[in-house]
Amino acid sequence: MLFPRAGSAGELWPPVVPQFKTLTETLYNDRKCFEQGSAGCRHGLLAYWISSGGAAESGTRIRVFDTTLRDGDQMPGIELDLEEKLYIARLLDELHVDIIEAGFPASSRIDFETVRRIKREASYARVAGLARTSPRDIDAAAEAEADIIHVFIATSDIHMKYKLRMSREEVIEAAVRAVERARGYGAEVLFSAEDATRSDPEFLAAVYRAVADAGARYINIPDTVGTATPWKMEWLVSFIRKALPEWVRIDVHCHNDFGLAVANSLAGVRGGADGVQVTVNGFGERGGNAALEEVVAALHFLMGRRTGVRLGMLTRVSKEVARVFGVQLPPNKPVTGLNAFAHEAGIHVHGVLSNPATYEPMPPEAVGNRRRIVLGRHSGRAAVAHALEAMGFQPSKDLVSYILEKLKEHAPRLKKVDEDTLQRWVEEYYTSRMRSIGAEMGA
Ligand SMILES: [Zn+2]
Repeated sequence: MLFPRAGSAGELWPPVVPQFKTLTETLYNDRKCFEQGSAGCRHGLLAYWISSGGAAESGTRIRVFDTTLRDGDQMPGIELDLEEKLYIARLLDELHVDIIEAGFPASSRIDFETVRRIKREASYARVAGLARTSPRDIDAAAEAEADIIHVFIATSDIHMKYKLRMSREEVIEAAVRAVERARGYGAEVLFSAEDATRSDPEFLAAVYRAVADAGARYINIPDTVGTATPWKMEWLVSFIRKALPEWVRIDVHCHNDFGLAVANSLAGVRGGADGVQVTVNGFGERGGNAALEEVVAALHFLMGRRTGVRLGMLTRVSKEVARVFGVQLPPNKPVTGLNAFAHEAGIHVHGVLSNPATYEPMPPEAVGNRRRIVLGRHSGRAAVAHALEAMGFQPSKDLVSYILEKLKEHAPRLKKVDEDTLQRWVEEYYTSRMRSIGAEMGA
């Protein structure tokens, strides 16, 4: 085991592990490069530094709760087997997410086994198992040896009336009983009020207070149907934060039905949440969840908030999880996608080659991705010269002009100009030059 788990109740949980250079340090280096006039500054945060006046937000380290194996697995058409789940769990553990929600032990044998196996194997992350408030669910999660029993019950009027057919009093009572039962097993308890963002805030606060009194140290505020806006999320989290004792830790769990899951998660953190529930690539039911890699990168680079996640692994994990799920990522996927750091337009390429921070929001290598200079109809001289140099050619003015002509003529039809094509054009250029030299000499 690389890092110790927190033991006594008074300790911070999960353990604080220094992972990445602090933002201040990075910004300092960035600024130093700038002051020294270093055009090759690779820290890439200059733009952020300037726009924010250098004021990184401060605060506690943000817990990352990954639910790819539970909520992500609810993605329609996806059915992961035990080996696939274990493979993803190992990646997540290596990535240093703080908690892996490995499944819903009462729901199936596979989920039960997954929770138990991952709990035994994980060397860094803690393992959570989901449970409704029924004793059977709690017992199954405890039997699967989950570190954290994640108890949930809906609190919105529409869910209580049409799904649960329970009154507000009955819901509070069921929640408290379930939390007490889980605590009885010695497990840590995380309580989720399903559909929290559509619940009456006063009632919601009363539910959370009751479960905290019953021993739940962690509460989660889910935007189950993805209908919150960032300003609503920030307000709701700060309202709940004020209603609870300071020792209660708060997660947010945002769905992406309006494409706001990442923004809502960040807004939740601004409102006082200290944990985010995410899935790799945002995989999940309907429009999906908040994407781990996007939330973590934004926390780090835009808000100056630390997580334990090894940023440099993000691209590899994103690609591997997509492969196992059998889902192709769109090229414009932020942070980890093929085009996340690809540049084609002449002005952009020229800028990036002089200083990457001109058109890059963060250094690609910091998130394990890489810069790609793409040749196409929009390319300028700098990009062509750069590509030729990278292939070992001397980019003379003439040669660059020749390639630019070829690009204007053929790129729209080719869609993708790869090295082979470029190589062929360079050969054509030299052949035609030899011919014209030969013709001159023969004349
Ligand atoms: Zn969910």
